[in-house]
Amino acid sequence: MGLKTPEEFEESIKQLRPRVFMNGKRIENIFENPNTRTVIESNKASYRWALDSRYSEIMSCFSPLVEERVNRYTHVSASVEDLVAKAGAGTFTAERLGTCIYRCVGYDAFHALAATTWEMDRDLGTSYNERFLTYLKMVQRNDLSVAGALTEPRGHRMKRAVDWPDPYLSLKMVDKNSDGIVVRGAKINISGAYASHELVALPQGARSADEEDYALAFAIPSDSKGITYVCQYSPFSAERDMANDPYELGNPVFGQRETAMVIFDNVFVPWERVFHCGETKYSLKLVSRFARTHRMTCGGTCKVGFMNQIIGACKLIQEYKGLENVPHVNDELTEMVVLRETGRACGLASARLGSEDPIGSGVFLPDELMGNVAKLNICDAFWRVMALAGDIGGGLIVTMPSLKELQTPEIKDFVEEFYSFGSDEPTENIMKVHKLLQNWTAGQHGVGTWHGAGPVMAQKIMIQRTTNFDHEKELVRKTLNLKDKEDSGKA
Ligand SMILES: Cc1cc2nc3c(=O)[nH]c(=O)nc-3n(C[C@H](O)[C@H](O)[C@H](O)COP(=O)(O)OP(=O)(O)OC[C@H]3O[C@@H](n4cnc5c(N)ncnc54)[C@H](O)[C@@H]3O)c2cc1C
Repeated sequence: MGLKTPEEFEESIKQLRPRVFMNGKRIENIFENPNTRTVIESNKASYRWALDSRYSEIMSCFSPLVEERVNRYTHVSASVEDLVAKAGAGTFTAERLGTCIYRCVGYDAFHALAATTWEMDRDLGTSYNERFLTYLKMVQRNDLSVAGALTEPRGHRMKRAVDWPDPYLSLKMVDKNSDGIVVRGAKINISGAYASHELVALPQGARSADEEDYALAFAIPSDSKGITYVCQYSPFSAERDMANDPYELGNPVFGQRETAMVIFDNVFVPWERVFHCGETKYSLKLVSRFARTHRMTCGGTCKVGFMNQIIGACKLIQEYKGLENVPHVNDELTEMVVLRETGRACGLASARLGSEDPIGSGVFLPDELMGNVAKLNICDAFWRVMALAGDIGGGLIVTMPSLKELQTPEIKDFVEEFYSFGSDEPTENIMKVHKLLQNWTAGQHGVGTWHGAGPVMAQKIMIQRTTNFDHEKELVRKTLNLKDKEDSGKA
């Protein structure tokens, strides 16, 4: 079937009937709600770019699986070059959307599934890999958008799922028969799932031997029976609900990063879509391989794209204000560029140092250490870039009036005059750029960047696990010709 046009994507999403709630109301049509619409627009862009000759090398690639060109967001990396291209696509989409490309988490989940189903089949004699590849071929041939769901509500964090009074705070298998499995529970913070064709679920974390019913990975259509979405709602959502002019919101078309809690109320999953069921030893492998790819993406690619938007807005404001030759402003812009490039360097390094994992599987994953360093660095770097943008933008970032004042006869001329910085730039442009920066600096992006792909402690734990310091200790031993304990007479 090949790559879908943006129109075909819209048409295919219209055929779905997801059960979606937001702000106390059922959303019957996600195309008509101004908040859910942003997710459709964002995903739609990925279809447009894949067919645009200017961007098709970034957004599409040849898939040996189906022997045709597919959207990059459905392709599992089979080489370092694929990983580098994946990193490039992450920055490309982020800097144009200023929000999520909602196909990203599913894409990273494919990498974890391709590698770990292969490993399970090798070790256990299961046939998960064949099942998964059959599914992936279907996704590629139909050019489907796939959301990824790991994060769960969870109970007391120091206890295990089997010890929680409510057993469904992690997604749990409640029935298993010859046709498939039935699952109950929820996933939280899931990006863009109601406007995707499919939802892939992985375990959130490690599972111990008695937690077999929680060791699950599978894929379902996003409007499956028993699935309900409860959408995030914030002042930004309320503003978009009410806004006549989306430019008031900073990111007019693509909006905030939209997530939802996904409730699984006894959802049936046929066996052909189950990729992990009870093999507890492999749950952590799925999660850590997902994290390995997702941290490169979140840390070293998409936030780099977001920073480009912030830096661009700061540079424009510097020029509007006539601050081009002011040393500290140039210094702040330079610092932003250095932080952005540090993020990009870590992302590219994790792609370049990527390797086949497991050996023989044909699946390439980014370098674990560099991917985690990329994400850890960007958590602090993003807050810093937001602070620097706040300095350059000034108080107007948060005090700018509505763009409607440019149409209000009594005050229109004053607003034109007093927000113009005396420049020949249209005042409307100046106001819009400030609103873009409000969206970035006074919004949800700091916390979103921190927690997306896991909070910093998760990266620090992985960095500690991947660094044993043997090499560094040996260097010092050699440099100082340190005695072996045995030779010192002390051992
Ligand atoms: C904008 C956005 C989009 C997202 N999209 C997706 C998505 O598409 N799919 C998906 O699966 N997830 C998604 N997430 C979820 C994201 O991966 C989680 O938010 C992240 O893993 C942190 O989990 P949490 O929010 O439950 O925070 P918590 O885990 O509650 O973290 C809060 C604090 O508690 C600490 N903590 C928590 N548990 C423990 C523990 N056991 N031991 C020690 N310390 C602990 C953490 O280190 C942190 O300091 C998204 C999140 C955001 C913000």
